[in-house]
Amino acid sequence: MMSVQALYTRQTPKCINGEPLSSGPSLIGYDEVLAIIGQVQSKYHVGSTVLDAQITQNKQAADSLRQAITASLSQQIDSDLAKSLANAAVIEVCESPVCSRCKGTGQLEKKGEGIVQCTKCHGVGNHIPSQRALHALVMGQLPKDMRMGRQKFLKDYYDQYMLVVDRLYRESSNASSFAKEILSKCYF
Ligand SMILES: [Zn+2]
Repeated sequence: MMSVQALYTRQTPKCINGEPLSSGPSLIGYDEVLAIIGQVQSKYHVGSTVLDAQITQNKQAADSLRQAITASLSQQIDSDLAKSLANAAVIEVCESPVCSRCKGTGQLEKKGEGIVQCTKCHGVGNHIPSQRALHALVMGQLPKDMRMGRQKFLKDYYDQYMLVVDRLYRESSNASSFAKEILSKCYF
């Protein structure tokens, strides 16, 4: 079965040539790739955009996430701060390097226990910034008079930030499961 990774990778322009793309023993065409992604997008729009930004490092997808999160956070907090939190969340979920311990799988093999969740990234597979690094990143994008100390930032905004990050992971996981479900019914 084609992986979700391969699915999103194959929508990139270098594949636009009308030729069927080989995927192990089966063939899947560019049109089918787009049709499947279209289905995922219409059901899990945010999640599909997260997958696109994560897997293909699609800048447009990442920017549209930044805008959507900024718009939603701006209803509760100052728009400069909303924009900076949105930027940090997209970097953490879509643009951060893979976890150095589990190499992106989110899992580790532990003697006597079998496969367990990675203790460094808590199963997400990406590098997780420290609270210190997060504070520095968010403040760095703000006008000087709006910056605040780490304690105040963590107390007033960290929960809100983590809600955004958790939602992005949840949406992408839903989109990925749905894409797998469609792929499992195709061709095989
Ligand atoms: Zn890890």
